[in-house]
Amino acid sequence: MEKYVLSSKTLKELEDIVIAMDEPKFRAKQLYSWLYTKYASDFDQMTDISKTFREKLKQNALITDIKIKQRQISADKTIKYLLEYTDGNVAECVLMRFDNRPNLTACVSSQIGCPVGCVFCATGKTGFVRNLTSKEIVEQIMIMQRDTGLRISNVVFMGQGEPLLNLDNVLEAINIINDSVGIGIRRMTVSTSGIIPGLKRLKDINFQATVALSLHAPNHEIRQQIMPIEKKYRVEDVIEALKDLVNTTGRRATIEYTIIKGVNDSLSQAKEVLQLLKGLHCNINIIPYNNACNAEFEKPSEEHINKFKFILERSSYKVTVRLERGADIDAACGQLSGKMKNV
Ligand code: SAH
Ligand code: SF4
Repeated sequence: MEKYVLSSKTLKELEDIVIAMDEPKFRAKQLYSWLYTKYASDFDQMTDISKTFREKLKQNALITDIKIKQRQISADKTIKYLLEYTDGNVAECVLMRFDNRPNLTACVSSQIGCPVGCVFCATGKTGFVRNLTSKEIVEQIMIMQRDTGLRISNVVFMGQGEPLLNLDNVLEAINIINDSVGIGIRRMTVSTSGIIPGLKRLKDINFQATVALSLHAPNHEIRQQIMPIEKKYRVEDVIEALKDLVNTTGRRATIEYTIIKGVNDSLSQAKEVLQLLKGLHCNINIIPYNNACNAEFEKPSEEHINKFKFILERSSYKVTVRLERGADIDAACGQLSGKMKNV
């Protein structure tokens, strides 16, 4: 018989499992608490559970069926995990700490590979394999909590994959992360390359997490050269859909702008970006291009990025430059390829 997998299950699902194991329903609450608040990684840690039930659990259940295939720790303490799912596919997730802040942010993947194929992104280069299930998404957070013993406070869907092309599972995962893992929806961010039907659906459900749009270009012409999705959903229409969403939810969007030397970084392009965003409630996050096995591209100098930022700030947007985390272990934005590194 296949073993029950307990982690990332809802309380109701755990109740069904303990009942199927001929145990009283209250045992599910005990398991739930060991899994979600004490990050138990072994049944023997569950000391308030009788020895006989623990033995039964060892026989019939697993805490998780997902393996940590590799763990890399960066000089800035970012941890990148390569996880192996039951079908042998792998995906990465990243745990980031920011200095002077107690927050721990988990960057999670929503798909194995990505079908969008942005030219500057290592994930895009790998092609698309499959969607992750809601449990496979939640498990990334559970695994990082179990591995470190630390509570994660924020979640960003900025790992591999396009979350809005796996929206059913992403929304279900967000519910579990909210209800069971205990991370408030406003502490979650979903980043998208701009899938209009997905944005419309988020509007319809009055989605309360932050939505981040990967803009990366000042206009249609440049965007279609680096993001093939622009051929399907034009940037002006994407921004309209985002405005609709923001006006419904009342939640300010984030605009991500990966800045690439000679491609989208001129100061006149900064002005064009402002034109494009007119009327949208948003913060802007500039991401200096990270090397992602594409020799064509380079990041602009820090001085130049600051000039670009200064122009954007003129129209009272809050503009930040994203701190580069984990670049030495290929854990920074755009560097997740799902490949193992020899260490
Ligand atoms: N697929 C979603 C989620 C990925 S989020 C999306 O594209 O929005 C990761 C962010 O890093 C996105 O804004 C993505 O466009 C950006 N990115 C991808 N490759 C990058 C690179 N090489 N350097 C910097 N940012 C990159
Ligand atoms: Fe996919 Fe995002 Fe990478 Fe584009 S940037 S290929 S949408 S993961």
